[in-house]
Amino acid sequence: MDDTAAGTTPTAPARDLRALPKAHLHLHLAGSLRPETLVELAARHGVRLPSSLDCSRLDGWAGFQELYDAARAVIRTAADVRRVVVEAAAADAADGCGWLEIQVDPTAYAPVLGGLRATLEAVLAGAAEASVPTGVIVTSSWARPPEHAERLAGLAAEYAGAGVVGFGLSNDERRGRPADFAPAFRIAGDAGLLRTPHSGFFTGPDHVRACVELLGADRIGHGTSAARDPATLDLLASRQVALEVCPTSYPPLGVHELAEVPIAALLAAGVPVAVASDDPLLFGVGLAGQYELCRSALGLTDDQLATVARDGIRRSAAPEQLAAAMLSTVDRWCAGVGSTADVG
Ligand SMILES: [Zn+2]
Repeated sequence: MDDTAAGTTPTAPARDLRALPKAHLHLHLAGSLRPETLVELAARHGVRLPSSLDCSRLDGWAGFQELYDAARAVIRTAADVRRVVVEAAAADAADGCGWLEIQVDPTAYAPVLGGLRATLEAVLAGAAEASVPTGVIVTSSWARPPEHAERLAGLAAEYAGAGVVGFGLSNDERRGRPADFAPAFRIAGDAGLLRTPHSGFFTGPDHVRACVELLGADRIGHGTSAARDPATLDLLASRQVALEVCPTSYPPLGVHELAEVPIAALLAAGVPVAVASDDPLLFGVGLAGQYELCRSALGLTDDQLATVARDGIRRSAAPEQLAAAMLSTVDRWCAGVGSTADVG
């Protein structure tokens, strides 16, 4: 009688997900604030914070936006901006990030920081000081006029090759029509910037498709509604448009339950997936934690997690040599070689 054998056989320890090299492609400036820094900056600048930033029971997008605006309000100087970027990169470095793309809509900061350009330059100064190589994505908002997006795309284009790597549209994608933003994305594309609009969070696959066909999206922020439509999946797969999937962003807003985030289906359809944290201040989970949830809640295998890591690296703006080094470290992670200190 030996039915305990299976239980006593030593199993290999799970691979350390912090040691898997990652490109982090979807992180918002204010959403990356460390809770301690939020409290410290609020006290310094006399900003009253809401009693709780708990995102677990949100009243739709408006409830989320209120919390995000509260976080953003504590960032009032160029030094604050630099600090937030440097701290975000440090947190990601500890999670095995080898390349970070941080996104900012300079519009709301511009009045206190001396304008759109001054805001962008503060973010770029932080990126230059960061412990992880960091590119900046300038975003406008779906809720602002297309002319404003064109202005910001023009600003982003001026800094292409000088730290800005992409242009996107954030906020609630139900607020604007993709076709209206085509001129802004043309400016960004002509400057060689990655085009990374948010889409397919509240909107359906048609909106995702429009962002690819009309805006030339290289990646989509979220885009998970595409999983409902085989034709849209085919389009994303054939053009290798990556979806930036942020597992903890969906349950509080009623988009997906955690276990239903469709990463496995996207991968099976050949759609590149980059896992990201979006707003760790509000959703409470950092980059490595998102990968952990992909393993524990979504049941992704280590091979699938490595595919996600490779997809993120390949669809990032990371310099070629850095990307190659990170990809070879992913291979070594799969082969079981390396340590937590060896993260590319
Ligand atoms: Zn986002």
